[in-house]
Order: sequence, then C-alpha cells, then structure tokens
Amino acid sequence: MEPIQITRTTTPKAKPELNGLPFGTYFSDHMFLMNYVDGKGWINPRIVPYGPFELEPSSMVFHYAQEMFEGMKAYRTAEGKIQLFRPDQNIARMNRSGERLCIPHIPEELFLAGLKALIELDQEWVPHDPNSSLYIRPFAFATDPHIGVHASHTYLFAIITCPVGSYYAEGINPVRIMIESADVRAVRGGTGYTKCGGNYAASIRAGEEAAKKGYSQVLWLDGVHRKYIEEVGAMNVMFKINGRIVTPSLANGSVLPGITRKSCLELLHSWGYEVEERDLSVDELMQAAANGSLEEAWGTGTAAVVSPIGELAYRDEHYAVHNNEIGPITQKLYDTLTGIQWGRIEDAFGWTVPVC
Ligand SMILES: *Cc1c(COP(=O)(O)O)cnc(C)c1O
Repeated sequence: MEPIQITRTTTPKAKPELNGLPFGTYFSDHMFLMNYVDGKGWINPRIVPYGPFELEPSSMVFHYAQEMFEGMKAYRTAEGKIQLFRPDQNIARMNRSGERLCIPHIPEELFLAGLKALIELDQEWVPHDPNSSLYIRPFAFATDPHIGVHASHTYLFAIITCPVGSYYAEGINPVRIMIESADVRAVRGGTGYTKCGGNYAASIRAGEEAAKKGYSQVLWLDGVHRKYIEEVGAMNVMFKINGRIVTPSLANGSVLPGITRKSCLELLHSWGYEVEERDLSVDELMQAAANGSLEEAWGTGTAAVVSPIGELAYRDEHYAVHNNEIGPITQKLYDTLTGIQWGRIEDAFGWTVPVC
C-alpha cells in the first residue's frame, strides 16, 4: 500500500461550541484525498488541510452526477478513546454503490487506513461532550474534463469530517412524517440501493413541499405501484403492528441498505423478536394507524440512530403514533445502539473498531 503523505495545516481552526451548531456546517482541519487514474488505480493517498477543490468546469460530475458518498461517525468513549462503528459495512456499501455507478473499486484496506489516519490526526475534533460525535463524509466523483456520457477515466476520493452535537439535545422528539404520493425517490433497476447524490436530487422537491406543511421528513412509496412503503429521507423505517415488527424488504433494490437498519435487525433477533422483512402497503399501514394496531414506528440512520415517528400523514389522513411519544422498543434500540457506539455498554457483536 502506498504510504499516506500528511501535510498539516499551519492555521488550525478553533473548535466550535457544539450547542446549537447546525449539522454539517463546520469542518475539521484536514481532509483525506486520493486520485484514480485508469491504468494506475487509486494513487497519491494524502491528508491535506481542508480547503476548496480546483476542478475544470467540464468535470463530468457536474454534468452526469457520477458520484457516490457515505455517512458514518467517530465516537469518543468515557475513557477518551475514539472508535468507529462498523466501518467495514460503509466501505463495502460504497463499493457496491461504485459498482452500480461504474466508479472503480476502492481497496478496503486503503480506505480504512486513510480514514483512521485522518481521524487520528484530527482526534481533538472528536468532541468530548456526551452524545456528540465526529460525522464522517467519504465521497468520490468523476473528474474527466469532458462533455459526453461515459464512465470517467479519473476520479477524486475525499473524506471530510465535521463535529456534531447531540442529535437530541432537547430530548428525543418524535418526528412528523408525510407519505409522498406523487414524486418517487427510486425505481426498480435504478440506483435506490446506492448512496449517491442523484437519489437526493430527485428527493428535494418533495422534501421542500413536506417542510412547508410542517413535516420534517418524507416517507417514500415504491416507484412502480406507488403503493409499498420504502423509506424516509435518510432513514430506513420499522413498524410494530399488532405485536409484530415489520420493515420493507431490500429485495427490489430501491431501498438503501442502512447499517443502522441491519444493526437494529441483529439486535431485535438477539432479543428474540421476529422481524418481517416484506412488502408493506401504505393501505395496510394507514389502516393499522387508524385502528390502533400500529403500536410503534421509527426510523433508523446514522445521524439520529433511532428516531421515533410520532405522526404519519397520507393524502387527507393523519394519525398520531404511540401517542406521539417514543415507544419501548424504539427506546431500547436507541439505548443499546448508542450505548455500544459510545462504549457505555459491552459490544457483544464486535461492531466497534478502535482508532486511537
Ligand atoms: C444513509 C441512508 C440511510 C441510512 O443508512 P445508515 O447506514 O443506517 O446511516 C437510509 N436511507 C437513505 C436513503 C440513506 O441515504
């Protein structure tokens, strides 16, 4: 493996006050970069001061959106150690995205080495406050200066990081969710299972409309029938209906395979719950919400970990879920996952990876 060259900043920034810091606006001192060139592979891995890229206006990413990203976090334990949560899963998922988007495979060990070296160098950027973390955004995009649709021959891979405060600084607030009946996020055969900017571009309009109506997130229906529940903005969804836990299956390839989703399913199985991964129609869900058999609903994703859904709206109907309060399974999942992530409870699954 090519050694990672490190160029330290000469102008380190002040660490921000986390209280009230908006998510994803204040970046740490350094970033990891490497280039891909056809015939040479991924080359020149380096850590440099965080700063602007210089790119040709004709760079293919601007025109054809050949781009992918990941989202993960570094956590500081009570002993002051820093750890990652299942980074192997993010690395594998990024390469599955790359396979779909024709972005060349990134060697797993090089990705992890770059990530660890960056976190270690910027370790003081991993906040000390309880329930705070360093959000990590790896991404890669096409850089050929060329107008014309084909796979690029050159790419840039980058990792940037930003400190984030507790997602639930004012306690766990259930979110209001609007089920979108017109726009769709992903279709069968499309890129729904990848983490790419294009999926988000398609989702922005519905998100803006929902926000105007006071809903914080959109719940997507499938792109073929506009009938089956898929997922929320940047979270997978789970429901407890009549004592059974149900979550949309990944089989169609239009739902993002969340690592928090996977971890929740593994925890639920270990606690003896059966989880149904299957098609769940919006009619079945709204009926359950109407007749009271929808006992709990929650989203799962790296940013909020587990987020209770307090209200569901679809066309003219809207219902409160679990009296707009967090339910017992949602709470247990939240406590267990965050406990493992911040090292407060034993990691019986071997999910955490120490950095320094
Ligand atoms: C990132 C993401 C999720 C959640 O995935 P995690 O790995 O749990 O963070 C869910 N849905 C979409 C569309 C996403 O982009």
